[in-house]
Amino acid sequence: MKQINTEAKILFPEPCIIPEEFIQCKQIQIPKMCAYYVIFGFLLFLNCIPYIQQRERINLFRVAIVCGVDAAVIGGFKDNKFYEGYPVTLNDVFPLYFKSKGGKVIVNGVPYRGNLEIKKFGEQIWVINAVNIEDYLKGVVPCEIGQITKNLLESAKAQTVAARTYAYAHYDQYQELGFDLYATIQDQVYAGINAEDELINIAIKKTRGEILTYHGRSIEAKYHSTCGGRTADFNDAWPGIAPAYLRSVKCDYCQDSPHYTWTKVLDRNSFFQNLRSRLAKIDINLTEKEFIKGFRLIKNPVSRHVVKVILETTTNEYPIETYNVRTLLGDFNDPGGLLKSNYLTIKAKGDSIIIDGQGYGHGVGMCQFGAIGMARKGKNYKQILYHYYPGTKVIHK
Ligand SMILES: [Zn+2]
Repeated sequence: MKQINTEAKILFPEPCIIPEEFIQCKQIQIPKMCAYYVIFGFLLFLNCIPYIQQRERINLFRVAIVCGVDAAVIGGFKDNKFYEGYPVTLNDVFPLYFKSKGGKVIVNGVPYRGNLEIKKFGEQIWVINAVNIEDYLKGVVPCEIGQITKNLLESAKAQTVAARTYAYAHYDQYQELGFDLYATIQDQVYAGINAEDELINIAIKKTRGEILTYHGRSIEAKYHSTCGGRTADFNDAWPGIAPAYLRSVKCDYCQDSPHYTWTKVLDRNSFFQNLRSRLAKIDINLTEKEFIKGFRLIKNPVSRHVVKVILETTTNEYPIETYNVRTLLGDFNDPGGLLKSNYLTIKAKGDSIIIDGQGYGHGVGMCQFGAIGMARKGKNYKQILYHYYPGTKVIHK
């Protein structure tokens, strides 16, 4: 306000010396000027419409909630008529659109906010939920961080900002399929209205529109369950160029996690049978006469995570890269599963092979149990985020 007053004084220091013709001229010009302003304003508004539409579109996310089915039952408005349970089959004419009633639509008995677009890809039905980002988060954050108590609200706020940032960073990622995100672990687990939690809704409201950036650009906000004492470098989990903010950091906050440390014990025969079958999963097929002699673990000296396994057989040596390590050592009884983490040591004891591990998940970015631990120790959500994503900044989108 002070600045405006000062400026006004400079512009009109002596009102009494303004020449009369200027005043007259000004009086004459006012209607004309007003008309110009109205026209200019209208043109500016017209010019802004695509921008406004784009802004609205950017806050609207398309989430694939049912993928590749033969039929679905939908509750909602279609062509201004309300259906309690409309049976969608492959015989319908696609795309179909359903609008919400009272702010929700129903898909196979599950309520969601927003509207629906139902498409056919190949010979299968896909149900896509078009939902505002803040409503989407209400169905995501509880699935990611679980139930919290009021004293842990800051961890829910940190999780919200990370999940919102993830969504914006993956906007339009399945352009060819016409949606932005899957409602599964492939992106972020989204369970609609049934997942919503009053306390987490507060965390979402208090951080409305906030995302995490690095040098002004939204980041790839990776997160995982438990780091086990130290998060992983980006390249401990994936190949490619590692973002500067996804580097290993110490975490003294996740000791309460049930996954903080873990041990697997297998007898030697089972372990090597397992290894052989797992090798096939990563396209290394040993011949019948080729036997595994042993293996070496190569670790990242900073993060201590295993970044390579060198497997030696009677005829060959196979380097197994970091992104295949958890598949290679995955659970014998779970053919599709991954080992809990690649933060581990392996030792032989008698006829047993013992895997001592720490943490659960890829280990990169925010440790969710660590975020809860930091909130318990009185840290706020920005301190949590800046700890796990060093060099980043929270901004309003
Ligand atoms: Zn941790």
